[in-house]
Parts: sequence; C-alpha cells; structure tokens
Amino acid sequence: MDPNLNPLQERAVIAETLLSSAARLIRSRTELEVIKGVCESLCAASSHIKLAWTWFGPLATPVIRPQVYAGSARDYAADLVLDRNFLTELGPAFRTLKGEAPQSFQVSSWSLFTPWRVAARDYGARSVLAVPLHSSFSDQAGIFVLYADEPTYFDAVGAGLFVALGALFSSVLGASAEFAALKQAVNSDALTGVLNRHALPIVERRIARHSLYDPKAFVFVVDLDHFKQVNDQHGHPVGDLVLKRAAQAMRSLLRRDDDLMRWGGEEFLVCLSSASLGDALTVAEKLRHGIETLQDPIAVTASIGVAEVMPQRRLEDSIAIADQALYEAKNTGRNKVCFKG
Ligand code: GH3
Ligand code: MG
Ligand code: MG
Repeated sequence: MDPNLNPLQERAVIAETLLSSAARLIRSRTELEVIKGVCESLCAASSHIKLAWTWFGPLATPVIRPQVYAGSARDYAADLVLDRNFLTELGPAFRTLKGEAPQSFQVSSWSLFTPWRVAARDYGARSVLAVPLHSSFSDQAGIFVLYADEPTYFDAVGAGLFVALGALFSSVLGASAEFAALKQAVNSDALTGVLNRHALPIVERRIARHSLYDPKAFVFVVDLDHFKQVNDQHGHPVGDLVLKRAAQAMRSLLRRDDDLMRWGGEEFLVCLSSASLGDALTVAEKLRHGIETLQDPIAVTASIGVAEVMPQRRLEDSIAIADQALYEAKNTGRNKVCFKG
C-alpha cells in the first residue's frame, strides 16, 4: 500500500478493505478468527499500521496479554505482558479499560515504559491507540490496540474508524458469549444434550441478527417415524438411546451456527440461520439419511417438514408451516423430506 497517501485517502483505503474482509470473514470463521482476520486485513491495508492486537476479559484484571494479534510487529505482541501497576495504569490499555476516551500516545526509544522502548527500537512504532471493546451480553470488557509508524498517525487519520472496528469486534464477541450461554443447562434437554424448547426466544434472536446480512433462514421439524412401536417392541430405555443417538447424529451433521432443539417427545426442531432453499433441502436430506443409517441400537427413520422463516414474522408461524410439510411427509410414505412454501 502506498505510504504517501494523505490521511483522508488512508482512511478510505482502510475502510474499504475492512468492510470487504469483515463481510467475508464473519460468515465463515469463529469469533477469534474473525477478529484476527480483520486485524490482518487492517495491517495489510496500511503500511503505517505495524501491529493490531486485542484482549478481552474481566474489567478488574491484574494483567493483560494480547490474545489476538497481527501485523509486522506481531512478535512483539506475542511476548507482551502488561501487569497492572502505577506506570501501566497511565498507559492507553488500562486507561481505555477504565473508560477513558481513546487517545493517541507517542512511543519513543526513550520511553520510561520498557515495552514501548522495544516497540520503537525494534519495530519502528511511534504511536499507540487503544479503543474499548464492550460486551452487551456479559460483564466482560476488552481493548483493541494499534501501533503506527508515525507520531501523529492516529490524530491525522482519526480514532473514529478504529472505534467503529472495536464496536464490530464487541458484537462478534458478544455473539460468542451468547452462544456459550445458549449451551447452559437451563436451555438444554437432559436426555439428548441439545437445546430444549425454552431456548426458542434465543434462537429467534439469533436468526433476526443473522437476517441483517443474510435474510434467508429455514426451520425443519424432524419427527421419528413409528416411534411408539420402538418403545413397544424394544422398551423405553432403547427408545431413549435412539433419541440420544439421533440427536448426536444430527448435531454432528449441522454447522455450528445451526440450531438443534428437542421440540418435544420424538420431535426435533432445526433452524438454519443463513441458507438458500437448495442448501436447506440438502441439509434436511442429509439429516434424514444420517438417521436412516444409524443402526445402533436399532434402525429408525425420520420424516422432515421444511419451511422458510419469514422476516418480520414470528418463528412459530414458520414452525406451523413446517408442521404441515411434516404432515405431508407422514401421509406420503414417511422417511422423506417435504417443503412447504
Ligand atoms: P409417526 O410416524 O406418525 O410419528 O408415529 P409415532 O409412533 O412416532 O408417533 P406418536 O406421536 O404417536 O408417538 C410418539 C411416541 O414417542 C410416543 C411416546 O411414547 C414416545 N416418546 C416421547 N418422548 C419419549 C422419550 O423421552 N423417550 C422415549 N423412549 N419415548 C418417547
Ligand atoms: Mg413420530
Ligand atoms: Mg411426534
């Protein structure tokens, strides 16, 4: 990237690179990979930015170590340990963590702070900016720290772009915390370990959030065929094991972002938050086949009703349509997938 761009051009180039990389990364990676990928794009977009790192954790932390880092000075971040003390509390990391507005700090080879002397001498850093990360979901906080090769770089380009990037990271991390909470016992089914029907509002929120950038979502109702006979012929404990195995098989066939719930009895609900109709039908068929090929402890089959989730409508409305599709699958031979538009 041209090091002679004016600050306005520099900001435009960075913004454009970040927007395109963020959109691509968010869809395919885990939270920390998204943040690392965006940091890498940022450092590649500007020859002035030598390092970008983030840390996320409890507000009262006694120590900060970069968890994700990118840029030509990444080796510096790999070794950096910021113990909370009278000197570091005056620096950008702890100040930002305490809620102060982001401001640029100059780094020099004569700094009182040893790591900054190293950053300046070995990596050519001349200024540092730290911006806050907030989690809307947990009481954790974090910082996003950048190092540039010019003393007035952040004053010239402005902190706004980096603060906005911090907001993006916060929301990525918030989604991750929400995902962890989703798995908590309160929302999980004791027999199969998947979500139970009480998790529906959380799943609905996740779909709504995904719909901001990818509006298509689908819901499946998966119902095991002739399950009453399984219990009658093999006993309830075998029936329980079949439910467990079927849930495990489906979970392993789904992506991490797809939701699987035990909706009741021998019925499961699957939500794909971003998929085309073709993808959704392929996934439904994969689930049907996955259950059919489970022979342990006994052979079972499943019928699946598929419906699209309507933006602006309640998820229950789509579940009712998927139920009608399921009814059709049951009435036309079972062990099949039916879609109702
Ligand atoms: P269909 O193909 O029409 O779905 O037939 P079905 O026999 O599966 O349908 P039905 O809804 O009549 O029966 C569901 C059975 O699932 C009845 C119930 O005994 C069984 N069931 C529900 N919950 C559990 C459970 O937690 N464990 C076991 N072992 N069986 C369960
Ligand atoms: Mg059934
Ligand atoms: Mg049923």
